[in-house]
Amino acid sequence: MDIKNRIDELKKILNEASVAYYVNDKPFMEDYEYDRLMNELIKLEDENPELKTPDSPTNRIGGEVLTKFTKVTHETKMMSLADAFSFDELKDFDRKIKEVTPDATYLCELKIDGLSVSLKYEKGILVRGATRGNGLVGEDITHNVKTIKSVPLRLKDDIDIEVRGEIFMPKKSFIQLNLEREENEEELFANCRNAAAGSVRQLDSKVAAKRNLDTFLYYNQDIKVKTQEEALLSMKALGFKTNPLYKHAKTIEEVFDYINEMAEKRESLEYDIDGIVIKVNEIEYHDLIGETVKYPKWAIAYKFPPEEVKTKLLDIIFQVGRTGVITPVAIFKPVFVQGSLISKATLHNEDYIKMKDIHINDNVIIHKAGDVIPEVVGPVVEDRGFDIKNFVMIDKCPSCGSPLSKINGEVDYYCLNSNCDSKRINQLIHFASKPCYNIDSLGDKLTEQLYQEGFIKDITDIFNLYSRYDDLIKLPGLGQKSIDNLLKAIDESKNNNLDLLIFGLGIRHCGAKASKIICKKYRNIDNILNATEEDMANLDDIGEIISKSIYEYMHNEENINRLTVLKLLGLNMEYHMDEIKENYFTNKKCVLTGTLSSMGRSEAKKLIESFGGSLSESVSKKTDIVIVGDNPGSKYDKAKALGVYIMNEEEFLNKINE
Ligand code: NAD
Repeated sequence: MDIKNRIDELKKILNEASVAYYVNDKPFMEDYEYDRLMNELIKLEDENPELKTPDSPTNRIGGEVLTKFTKVTHETKMMSLADAFSFDELKDFDRKIKEVTPDATYLCELKIDGLSVSLKYEKGILVRGATRGNGLVGEDITHNVKTIKSVPLRLKDDIDIEVRGEIFMPKKSFIQLNLEREENEEELFANCRNAAAGSVRQLDSKVAAKRNLDTFLYYNQDIKVKTQEEALLSMKALGFKTNPLYKHAKTIEEVFDYINEMAEKRESLEYDIDGIVIKVNEIEYHDLIGETVKYPKWAIAYKFPPEEVKTKLLDIIFQVGRTGVITPVAIFKPVFVQGSLISKATLHNEDYIKMKDIHINDNVIIHKAGDVIPEVVGPVVEDRGFDIKNFVMIDKCPSCGSPLSKINGEVDYYCLNSNCDSKRINQLIHFASKPCYNIDSLGDKLTEQLYQEGFIKDITDIFNLYSRYDDLIKLPGLGQKSIDNLLKAIDESKNNNLDLLIFGLGIRHCGAKASKIICKKYRNIDNILNATEEDMANLDDIGEIISKSIYEYMHNEENINRLTVLKLLGLNMEYHMDEIKENYFTNKKCVLTGTLSSMGRSEAKKLIESFGGSLSESVSKKTDIVIVGDNPGSKYDKAKALGVYIMNEEEFLNKINE
């Protein structure tokens, strides 16, 4: 390929990646892959300046400004940072700095992986929050910024000031958010940065308010200080949150020490960092050193190499999900990645495998996406031997042998056989699981065993199990006590609120949140069965896809029969949430052991249930809280062994009265 074509190709890929990353908050390539292609483009343009065009991504900061927000023109440009990927590049940076300002020193800060924000205060009051946007014009996100607890609405001094820093999502909140999204069958965020950006660039500030965002500020425009270190201290004194883990380094070697130290600390930090920012500490030198159109020359971002390991891809197997979706899964020689042993990772679908050019027996690079989910980055093509095997997508379900199909042009293949064993087992596991019907004692393994042994083929069979008591007792590995506990838990679950049943049915696209919204509106199953698709689509957060799916489910004869049988079996078909006051105990499974001095057991049970919690007899992994009174029994020891949260009477009373 000639140079011009390669430059055009790189510009096209980078522009597309940039829109996906900055505008849609859904990157389709890894950051280091983007950086690698960007560096290739920079190099080609440097060597062939006549081929550099004004629209090149090498000239541009950030992405486009979304039109749904009011635009904010920055008084001074919000710049990006030059990158360095090795200590040699940092030595080069140091050499250039010292040529202009020989006695410059450096302030090293963590490079927080979030999105930059500008906060403007007038007479000490927050008047505006804005994104960086394209550096010159950003988006007005004041409504969302105000929901972030660490952003002071009023400063300790009544001054006019603009400060800049990073909005980020702590790792814990990111994991929690993705778990919730998974439960609600919503698309997952790729990493903390995208989750933060996706939360801040919402018109409805209720979304940002729930996302537990945080800030570190690192730049002030207006207070006259001599050094970057003083700038951080002065911002802290005004009430801003600044990151304490900075270091003043007098030489580039001290910078290297700091980088090594922070690289080790990185995993244990509560927020994601993707590198270290090195800034000339003496502010008077900044103007002398100058800037390019895109970044200041007095600062640089050292980017950590992604933690990646090489291993051999042994096989690609196929899993059948509860919706029938077929997912290819990479099985590789187990390896440690960032502290955990990993031996498999999803390969999503056929297109993904083809795009990455992955073959069985390839050496592959593994890393953790967003430091959490293991991911196959790609094959090491130069290691490829003669034993590689092409990936072939199956055309029949690995469980039931039915032909696979695509739905509405989606990339995934589905098994459409409603009697497929794997699909049904996964549907039953989903139904009994904690976020759904939460049936104590009915774990994944037991569900599968009961399915294989012919006891439960459908949700309705779960509630008929008691009639098979004599057969159940003959099952290997299940004593009389565990069967009694199981049947009791099944019986107790019949009182569950209606939204748990709706979620448990496994209706496509209808997660926990949608189930609750539907139940809140329609109150009982008959109303849901009679609801029109249009009516449901008009509800907040429901939309056409979910309403269509619920409507179709509720108008399928087999499903209507299932619901009729469940009703006859005594399952609650009403939604009660409104009478329940929500508090700490809502949806919590509690167990009481010992004697409470302030009330009897039945009173405690009533109280917990009045807040939408439940009190059961035995402790299991599904128990959320064990309340311990005087002279506790073995339930206390079991709770300790299982790591269940233990609460004494005083805490119980405090939480009840909160
Ligand atoms: P950057 O993220 O490389 O560095 C600049 C930013 O660092 C600043 O704007 C600021 O927001 C942030 N920062 C964090 N801590 C800081 C601190 N202590 N001091 C100063 N700044 C700090 O640059 P960018 O322009 O925001 O983004 C470019 C990068 O985004 C690329 O290098 C690439 O990794 C990534 N990107 C990825 C894709 C993709 O498809 N994966 C697409 C576009 C961009």
